[in-house]
Amino acid sequence: MTAQIIDGKAFAANLRQELKHKIAKSGLQIGLTVILVGDDPASHVYVKNKDKAATEVGITANTIKLPATISQPELVQQIEQLNNDTTVHGILVQLPLPKHIDEDAIINAISPDKDCDGFHIANAGKNFVGQQAVVPCTPLGSLMLLKDRLGNLSGLNALVIGRSNIVGKPMANLLLNESCTVTIAHSRTKNLEQLCKQADIVVSAVGRPNMVKGGWLKPGCTVIDVGINRIEVDGKYKLTGDVDFESASKAAANITPVPGGVGPMTIACLLHNCYELAKNG
Ligand code: NAD
Repeated sequence: MTAQIIDGKAFAANLRQELKHKIAKSGLQIGLTVILVGDDPASHVYVKNKDKAATEVGITANTIKLPATISQPELVQQIEQLNNDTTVHGILVQLPLPKHIDEDAIINAISPDKDCDGFHIANAGKNFVGQQAVVPCTPLGSLMLLKDRLGNLSGLNALVIGRSNIVGKPMANLLLNESCTVTIAHSRTKNLEQLCKQADIVVSAVGRPNMVKGGWLKPGCTVIDVGINRIEVDGKYKLTGDVDFESASKAAANITPVPGGVGPMTIACLLHNCYELAKNG
């Protein structure tokens, strides 16, 4: 079998185009503010990409750059100002934050009505019990790709590898809401290979290059590779996922590439969340 590629780049481009039309038609003036603390080069690149994509769909993006030495109360104060600013509909604090700042406290300082990442405990809780809420961007984008390719997911065996609050757990919950039979694997899981063999859907969000081998997969399954890993090949850096793409492509029916799979969906879903928040605000 040779897997069909799930082209997240093209899907995300369509999503952004649709969003652009919806925003123009709505007449809404939508504001997204990104807070960037410190000098992490990867974070700067992510924020620049978010800014560019927001501007392209007609969302006014603003980045507030703060020094790594900022105190937690000062950062909370900055967020509270944005919570009270009626021109701002989405607030995103780029993670990771410097070690002296409690990330949970910062995430929960954002008004749940402006939490475009969907990380606030109120949104996480609502998602967990199946109420309408902002859905975290990466799991949302992954689910869109799955539904587009497979249609109804009801009854399928889904394996989510990784249990983080921003990817693994919300992903598992979304799949459960789609009536999948969901298994969550993590760093202490003993029989990952056997679990993979039973899964119709494998979503990997670990951060270990080429960890999941093609030989572990159930023939004909669908693989969503969330992992983004920077590896060195012949003296050059390249991005790779958690799944060994070459061998997995021989077993799976559908697979996302890295790059060009889930990554572009994350940004498109962030913009989607900003639009929804502005519409409902
Ligand atoms: P994280 O470090 O918070 O979580 C990693 C998870 O992997 C943990 O729950 C851990 O238990 C599990 N894990 C570690 N080793 C394992 C093993 N050997 N077997 C099974 N599980 C294991 O990371 P995260 O923030 O959830 O991100 C995961 C990956 O997804 C990273 O590579 C990250 O860069 C990527 N990511 C991509 C996007 C995107 O837009 N494509 C967005 C967010 C994260």
